[in-house]
Amino acid sequence: MTPFSYQRPERIEQAIALHGPGSRYIAGGTNLLDLMKENVLRPTQLIDINRLPLRDIEDTREGGLMIGALVSNAELAWHPQITLRYPLLAKAILAGASPQLRNMASTGGNLLQGTRCYYFYDTATPCNKREPGSGCSAREGRNRIHAILGASETCVAVHPSDMCVALAVLEAQVHVCGPQGERRIAFEDFHGLPGEHPERDNVLTEGELITAIELPVEGFASHCAYLKLLDRASYAFALVSVAAALEMDGDVIRRGRIALGGVAHKPWRLEEAEELLSGKRAEAECFAAAAERLLQGAQPLADNAFKVDLARRAIVRALTEAAGGAVR
Ligand SMILES: Cc1cc2nc3c(=O)[nH]c(=O)nc-3n(C[C@H](O)[C@H](O)[C@H](O)COP(=O)(O)OP(=O)(O)OC[C@H]3O[C@@H](n4cnc5c(N)ncnc54)[C@H](O)[C@@H]3O)c2cc1C
Repeated sequence: MTPFSYQRPERIEQAIALHGPGSRYIAGGTNLLDLMKENVLRPTQLIDINRLPLRDIEDTREGGLMIGALVSNAELAWHPQITLRYPLLAKAILAGASPQLRNMASTGGNLLQGTRCYYFYDTATPCNKREPGSGCSAREGRNRIHAILGASETCVAVHPSDMCVALAVLEAQVHVCGPQGERRIAFEDFHGLPGEHPERDNVLTEGELITAIELPVEGFASHCAYLKLLDRASYAFALVSVAAALEMDGDVIRRGRIALGGVAHKPWRLEEAEELLSGKRAEAECFAAAAERLLQGAQPLADNAFKVDLARRAIVRALTEAAGGAVR
């Protein structure tokens, strides 16, 4: 490990002022420390943000919920407002990691966790995300867990988070604070596709700190589902996951939202696919049409063609579950 300095500021402004080239904020450390031990990340300064006042969950004036960036994944999943009003989010969080990890992992850190691409972790191999311009070992290598949608020549990695798939469907907002002040980023715009710059996972600029995640009023509590398909029963990252949310009028869908995890560099949504649900009876045929549209243009790699069919079936199953009522 590269030597690094360590600071533990008490105030947000202090933390931001301390940040410079080579700095990293550290929250739960469940991802950052692994990446440092593997020599993938080599920060020269760690800014421990655990003393910052970012642990509250509060109602917003608009009727939504503001979640501090340091609220742990466990606390969030079991918070009464979340289980009652946003069960989709609770279910997605609980589908990830382990109880011990969820106790440590923070809301902000979950958004910024690194990809689980084997080659990203293996510093003996080229990886454009780790070393821009070095090449992508996964394209022609082992690529069973990799992207089928939105990838580029330079990178086929996927975003590994479960929580983010639910936040995409809920259309959360990410609140950040940095040297240029505060701003709010729509969840859809927060993570990017790899394009020519796979080293950029998101739109945060140097020194920006996530301070909170805002949930809008609509939680789709009555009709939602999170389905995660993985290699073993628990404690694994998604091969494919689906967050589905419906607003129903009897057995007719007023509007629906679907996001996929494990298939792209960011949670994958498509407006045209969701429009296919509006005004339709909640039936397998309509779900299959939405699935087909959402997966249109999928470009599987040598080892992961199975993901296309897996995703298609998972979308239909998640929408069926959501139409039947929220699974709590
Ligand atoms: C064995 C294992 C299994 C896992 N399984 C799953 C799973 O199935 N599903 C899933 O979704 N996740 C899984 N995870 C990932 C886990 O959810 C993340 O490691 C965790 O959410 C990261 O949060 P953290 O607070 O520990 O982040 P840290 O490790 O502290 O930080 C992660 C990154 O975020 C940055 N950062 C942290 N907080 C902020 C902030 N407020 N503002 C700006 N930058 C910040 C850090 O600089 C760093 O780059 C697993 C992890 C492990 C180790």
